[in-house]
Amino acid sequence: SKPVVAIIGRPNVGKSTLFNAIAGEPISIVKDTPGVTRDRIYADCTWLDMNFTLIDTGGIEPESSDVILSQMREQAEIAIETADVIVFITDVRQGLVDSDSKVCDMLRKSRKPVVLAVNKVDSIAKFGNDVYEFYNLGIGDPVAISAASRLGIGDLLDAVAVHF
Ligand code: GDP
Ligand code: MG
Repeated sequence: SKPVVAIIGRPNVGKSTLFNAIAGEPISIVKDTPGVTRDRIYADCTWLDMNFTLIDTGGIEPESSDVILSQMREQAEIAIETADVIVFITDVRQGLVDSDSKVCDMLRKSRKPVVLAVNKVDSIAKFGNDVYEFYNLGIGDPVAISAASRLGIGDLLDAVAVHF
């Protein structure tokens, strides 16, 4: 059966934007407000000669007791369980924050292959150097992307496909 790829990360980093960029259709809702994707959303995708199922998730918010956020966390945990490969997405504009590290710990425990994407690198000249900080997560090479501008998506999918 087709491999399953789950996009995981805290709210507002650009998961749904990336999902739509890969799926090629605006399936997922993109909002400025954190926490808008409240269901897992699936799409059948193709990259080169490979077919896979992509899952968008609500953001993980490890510290929150809020009901919606804890439901989203549950959704993400289900997606982690279902996934063959996890795309862990972060935001270069906000830099590496504490909740990224907490999400990363969850992912490490899953023992699934994780590909680290650093999103919102709309300009390498402007933000390229800020990507290096994400090496501190200790999960390998960060892939710089701009989901909104569809930059770096091919490199990201190449890194994902290594694990198929
Ligand atoms: P999610 O909560 O992780 O699903 O994040 P969304 O996909 O809903 O995006 C949150 C916000 O970040 C929206 O305002 C997007 O337009 C914006 N965004 C997403 N990707 C990029 C990007 O590559 N560059 C910039 N500048 N903004 C982005
Ligand atoms: Mg979303």
